[in-house]
Amino acid sequence: MEADTKSKKPGARLCCACNQRRAALKRPKTLEQICRECFYAVFEEEIHQVILENKLFKHGERIAIGASGGKDSTVLAYVLSELNRRHNYGLDLFLLSVDEGITGYRDDSLETVKRNELQYGLPLKIVSYKDLYGWTMDEIVKMIGLKNNCTFCGVFRRQALDRGAALLKVDKVATGHNADDIAETVLLNILRGDIARLSRCTSIITGEDGPIPRCKPFKYTYEKEIFSTYAYFKKLDYFSTECIYSPNAYRGFAREFIKDLERIRPRAILDIIKSGEDFRIATSTKMPEQGTCERCGYISSQKWCKACVLLEGLNRGLPKLGIGRNQGLNSDAKKDVKEDGRTKSIESKQCGSLEF
Ligand code: SF4
Repeated sequence: MEADTKSKKPGARLCCACNQRRAALKRPKTLEQICRECFYAVFEEEIHQVILENKLFKHGERIAIGASGGKDSTVLAYVLSELNRRHNYGLDLFLLSVDEGITGYRDDSLETVKRNELQYGLPLKIVSYKDLYGWTMDEIVKMIGLKNNCTFCGVFRRQALDRGAALLKVDKVATGHNADDIAETVLLNILRGDIARLSRCTSIITGEDGPIPRCKPFKYTYEKEIFSTYAYFKKLDYFSTECIYSPNAYRGFAREFIKDLERIRPRAILDIIKSGEDFRIATSTKMPEQGTCERCGYISSQKWCKACVLLEGLNRGLPKLGIGRNQGLNSDAKKDVKEDGRTKSIESKQCGSLEF
């Protein structure tokens, strides 16, 4: 009762949803003034509706949540376990983390994931670059420097997640990519002229033709709502330090541009996603053909998958072997490297610096 009296102080703005409690925040997406309780309810309900409308999960499925310890994946783990209980989705949820071997960054963020395992009661599987490839990112950076490190890391992570998911025998991997990330990726793919990826990067489910599909329940969720509002008010335990090898200036520039647009017009993020969705690829555009890597059996449109090419370069002391168009080992295949038919640029976001 006391709280109610407080909430109705003269001059205090009331929540536009319940019209009872004092508004505690302005929703970045809609600019509505809302109280915490109503915000939690609408935030969770919107994600529930996205899950239902897009048929992201089926009853009884095993789902791995890509968990980095960062805010997006922590909120995803929390919200999915809540919704799973509340709406009886019947899902078996797991946390799946990739240890890239980055001292002072990933080792610390994995401690957060280990706490999340206990807090949410979700079994955790960690797969490491060292075990899978014989190299840590610390060792790779020592050899190649800070120029192409994210290329190695992104390619290795994509496979590592698939391999971890296969070990867990899950039906799908859910990742914490949010609306800001997707808008940013649309923009980057336009700037790079990468029409093949542009057509896929807005899909809420990707990789249905690959080993294990991935889905993005936060496709329409604004980063600000996840981070400065939900995670903050709920006092969730997440890790927020940037990767020490993060040099991704180009992506960072696109990110800042989107944030500037959002400040002027909050809907800009959703409109960019909509523009990406509405692009149609000309039938004359050549798309990569799916096959399997001759060496490791992973999905690839080349003789060897990109991870095997990069790894061969590292092991032979020729780290530039698989960078850009310098595809020595695949030179008998097509010149342009489109490793597999899956969204690549957005996957690189699965580090704490770009957040995952
Ligand atoms: Fe890997 Fe991300 Fe760090 Fe780049 S910024 S090295 S992709 S963890």
